[in-house]
Amino acid sequence: MIRHEYAQSRGNLVYYSYQLFEPFPQISCIVSTRLGGVSEDHLHSLNLSFSVGDTEQAVLTNRSRLYHIVDVEPQSVAQAHLVHGNHIEIVTSQSLTGTYQAFAETDGLVTNVAHTPLMIPVADCAAVAFFDPKQQVIALLHAGWKGVVSNIVAKMVSTMHQTFGCRTFDILVAISPSLGPCCYEVREDLVAAFHEAFPTHAQDFFRLRPDATIHLDMWAALRYQLRESGIRPEYIEESGRCTACHLDEFYSHRAERGKTGRFAGLIVLHSAT
Ligand SMILES: [Zn+2]
Repeated sequence: MIRHEYAQSRGNLVYYSYQLFEPFPQISCIVSTRLGGVSEDHLHSLNLSFSVGDTEQAVLTNRSRLYHIVDVEPQSVAQAHLVHGNHIEIVTSQSLTGTYQAFAETDGLVTNVAHTPLMIPVADCAAVAFFDPKQQVIALLHAGWKGVVSNIVAKMVSTMHQTFGCRTFDILVAISPSLGPCCYEVREDLVAAFHEAFPTHAQDFFRLRPDATIHLDMWAALRYQLRESGIRPEYIEESGRCTACHLDEFYSHRAERGKTGRFAGLIVLHSAT
């Protein structure tokens, strides 16, 4: 990831982009941080979610600051009411009504429509971004452990292939900061769910700590699923940044015991050239 600071009069807005997408000026793909907004107290400061107890005005102000950086109109941003499922919404020019877009019970968004940003707010789950420069298709999904078990990653790759003719070996993928194996302690029932979903590989996704706790390596699981889906290893950029270990820049639901805000992944196709 590449760190950026956007100068503001009171506290710069910090965001990241990915090296992988640098050669493609036709898209912007960024990850916000918690720095540079107006939210107060434990939501300090660039909270992007309306559903964590923030004021509407603060969220609107924060969002408009972020949108300004990538030059998008607030009413054009496609969003999703995340439910830890695996429904993927294909965003078309017909599905855009010119008002605030939030698709119900959706954890993945994909489009080839220019000027139609996709945004997924997170606070430990990963926002996974996809771009096929050949077919000019962008996508973004929300993956926590439930999303991994339901293999929303493979579903997204096959949706891109079936709907837009994307070839898997052309697709670039970037994984946002999220809860890392250092901090992702899990219980036995979650381990069992992974063994059921990945009978031959689940053991590779867990680490037994010296204190006998079990930690999930969600990044390893996502990497495995992407490669199994046909994504080239060199076309995957992992931020490798743990949200719980970097509360100075990110929100972490786990580390802040649920009292936290949301940063976001955001991707937009500026022109379908
Ligand atoms: Zn950590």
